[in-house]
Amino acid sequence: MQQEKEAVSLMNLGVLAHVDAGKTTTVEQLLFQSGELRVLGSVDKGSTQTDQLAVERERGISVTAATAVLESGGVQINIIDTPGHVDFTGEVERALSVLDAAVVVVSAAEGIQPQTERFWQALTDLGIPTVFFVNKIDRTGCDPEAVLAALRKDFHPCIIPLNRAVEPGESTVTVEPAPMGEEALLALCEADDALTEQYLTGTAIPESALQDSLLRQTQARTAFPLLFGAASVGLGIEALLNCIRTFLPASPPHPEGEPAGIVYKIEHDKAMGKIAHIRLYEGTLRNRDAVTLHRPGQAPFQQKITQIRRVSGARREDMGVLRGNDIAAVYGMADARTGDMVGSLLESRAVRLATPLFSVQIIGDAGEEAKLLQAVSELSDEDPLLNYDWNREERELVIRIMGTIQLEILEYLLRERYNLQVTFSQPSVIYRETPTTTGIGLERYTMPKPCWAVVELQVDPLPRGTGYRYQSMIKDNVLHYCYQNHVEVTVPETLRQGLLGWEVTDLQVTLIGGGDHHIHTHPLDFFLATPIAVMKALQNAGTTLLEPISRLRLTAGEEFSGKLIGDILAMRGDFDSPVIRDGKVELEALVPVATSMDYAIRFASLTSGKGVIKSDFSGYRECPKELGAVAKRRGINPLDRDQWIL
Ligand code: GDP
Ligand code: MG
Repeated sequence: MQQEKEAVSLMNLGVLAHVDAGKTTTVEQLLFQSGELRVLGSVDKGSTQTDQLAVERERGISVTAATAVLESGGVQINIIDTPGHVDFTGEVERALSVLDAAVVVVSAAEGIQPQTERFWQALTDLGIPTVFFVNKIDRTGCDPEAVLAALRKDFHPCIIPLNRAVEPGESTVTVEPAPMGEEALLALCEADDALTEQYLTGTAIPESALQDSLLRQTQARTAFPLLFGAASVGLGIEALLNCIRTFLPASPPHPEGEPAGIVYKIEHDKAMGKIAHIRLYEGTLRNRDAVTLHRPGQAPFQQKITQIRRVSGARREDMGVLRGNDIAAVYGMADARTGDMVGSLLESRAVRLATPLFSVQIIGDAGEEAKLLQAVSELSDEDPLLNYDWNREERELVIRIMGTIQLEILEYLLRERYNLQVTFSQPSVIYRETPTTTGIGLERYTMPKPCWAVVELQVDPLPRGTGYRYQSMIKDNVLHYCYQNHVEVTVPETLRQGLLGWEVTDLQVTLIGGGDHHIHTHPLDFFLATPIAVMKALQNAGTTLLEPISRLRLTAGEEFSGKLIGDILAMRGDFDSPVIRDGKVELEALVPVATSMDYAIRFASLTSGKGVIKSDFSGYRECPKELGAVAKRRGINPLDRDQWIL
């Protein structure tokens, strides 16, 4: 930074793209053209600011959400270069929740790709103002106008280009400013009554009125500016920077009030320990402050800040203070995890995590178990999606993942960072189970004395996707509230492994009876009796197996219709009636994850790579037991009552 001027306003900007569309190159150019960088880095040479981790350099993909800061016209723009790979959707969504605005980079050669759609959906859900950058207009055979048309058709009709590609696909390609004409006017009128009235009364409408409307509508997400360019040769970048500054929202710092923010990323530094990347919405954090962190399902806890630094690419600069609306790297929060809420609880900002669908056993070298466990525990602080289980008896370390690319990265991180060599078992699908009907379980733990805990629970099935609910129907004078509390905390723990060994979900558990004894009851008795009552209730209700389902959207030549339908049926899938359009068939189907794991590859070879397949997780549904799997139980089954009590 040339001069330490205080920025008047702040913008936390996400740059989002399908892998390889040119996000890192675009960010590097924005840094360069805003004067932030003296030397331009290159993805292909591994010298960019935001591809920091060695694994990113090697593979040329961004794994962690790297940060870069630039200043343009009094606006401090914090760029969060979110990862693009499908398997890191969890991190992408966490990063998105802290954004004020976004740039979606689309390749002029490839057009809309599966990740572009997913980002668009998430940005729409979160209501984040967005600008499009159609990159790679220098690539032979690219069709920028067709990409614009596709964006208007699939994403939003009111996408307004602010420049034009001249001779796209040629080495002489360039861009020139495009005034918003009639077409933009009509599109903008759609959601602007004042503009419509001016237009209808025949008043001459100056370009500045269109600009004003575009500004308002971009913030309201009824319009989206678009720029064409080629990041690798710096084309269209200045216009993009102007557009970001002009049309996307920035806010002044908000240092007043109680601190409220979110930990959107965790990093581990060999020398400095854990680094929590925090987006603060309001209030101020300072070195040596003690702050309260909130995590769903856990008591709030305090952490002491040792240092606050600004991160830009490889550079770290001491700030000492973090003010509302800004982001920073905060040191000293040893227990922080990604997704933790800082200070006052912000329910509406709580981060939704994606669902891991596979479990895999990590196999390390003999004698290195403790080291491996420590490493995996650190990595899971960074990515809560990577949750793990250590089975002491079987000496097995099992992690849950979204997809197999995660394994490649994990293997690399363990080797590079921890010097650990590992292999993985075949991924297996994570099933769940749910009570089939209502069931009651009663446990009288009154022998051998001294002990006394009576627990009677009822389980009822709930609709798909509801999750877990608990209530007590009994009074404190029947069962002391302290013991009721023991029951309440023990039930969800027990439900992690149902009759078939899977997590039990979509159910209501009701405490319908119970009793303690003022002399005999030992403080631990209800922790022991509750799991038995839960398992008895499940046994009486019976459980139904649930399996994860993918939603597939397939587009291929019409001649493949029959074959595709056959494939869907063979995978136990359901589909909506296919749509035939322009010689192509479009088919939407719900198929089990278990039967469709490798379908993207089969589909690509069937259609010789010409078909388009999009897939996302759609939820859990019933699965015949004989087609699913049973999970190996960890620990003793409470239904084995004698062993359990021992
Ligand atoms: P990311 O995966 O979205 O971060 O994309 P990168 O910035 O890493 O770029 C992927 C590849 O596309 C690299 O080989 C870049 O050099 C190349 N690339 C990026 N922008 C352009 C462009 O405008 N034109 C051309 N022809 N290639 C580009
Ligand atoms: Mg990249």
